[in-house]
Amino acid sequence: MIKSASAFPEQLLFPPCCYLCSAILRRETEDHLRYICRRCLSLLPFNPALTRTFPALANEPPADMTLPHWRRTPVPILFSVFLYEGVIRELILGLKFGGRRENARLLGSLMAAVLAGELKRLNFRPAGVVPMPLGYKRHRRRGYNQSELLADFFAAGLGLEVLPLLVRSRETARQSELKTLAERKRNVQDAFAPAPGITEQAFRDRQFILVDDVLTSGYTMLACAGRLQAAGADVISLVAASGTGKHFHAHGHSGD
Ligand SMILES: [Zn+2]
Repeated sequence: MIKSASAFPEQLLFPPCCYLCSAILRRETEDHLRYICRRCLSLLPFNPALTRTFPALANEPPADMTLPHWRRTPVPILFSVFLYEGVIRELILGLKFGGRRENARLLGSLMAAVLAGELKRLNFRPAGVVPMPLGYKRHRRRGYNQSELLADFFAAGLGLEVLPLLVRSRETARQSELKTLAERKRNVQDAFAPAPGITEQAFRDRQFILVDDVLTSGYTMLACAGRLQAAGADVISLVAASGTGKHFHAHGHSGD
């Protein structure tokens, strides 16, 4: 007797497929391998160094990555999981401008898989993941905040909570529309404030991971991290992708 379709486990009818090439996936124990096949994974442009310095602080000493235990540093450590190129660039552009929210699942889960070991090594025990806030107007137009979506999947992969502790206190111009670094710096200075109902006490002596999609000059990230650090928090900055030098600034869409 043939069983009705509903009696079959859903996995048999809709076996999990690679998000990029649609190949049927084998059962994997690692969370991120539920969305991507090993072949596609091996072709992604991972950032070989994993960390980056903020381009905005090109002339300043980088944060100390060799510390055996976490210690507060004036400049937050910056992790960039991917290079902004190839399929990663497409996924981010789709997420940001093409309404493809589901792209955040693959990106966020890969960010978690890559960062898990690093957080342990740094003895960093975050109280939660803070998404980079989006301006009210841009949020309304887009319908969602792409950093929040990334933060959701990233935090889920690590068993952490998402804490939207900050908001934009004023509208800012798109960083990519500003030509000079000085303009970009001015644009985001004092642009962040604790979210309604949150006091600065909520930041004190706690550790957070600040999540954004793409990094260009890094001023937005620095301003946001600075707001948390000013209240005594330890901050690690994490972006999905960052570019590599001149090419990025000339052709990157960047955005916020
Ligand atoms: Zn694939």
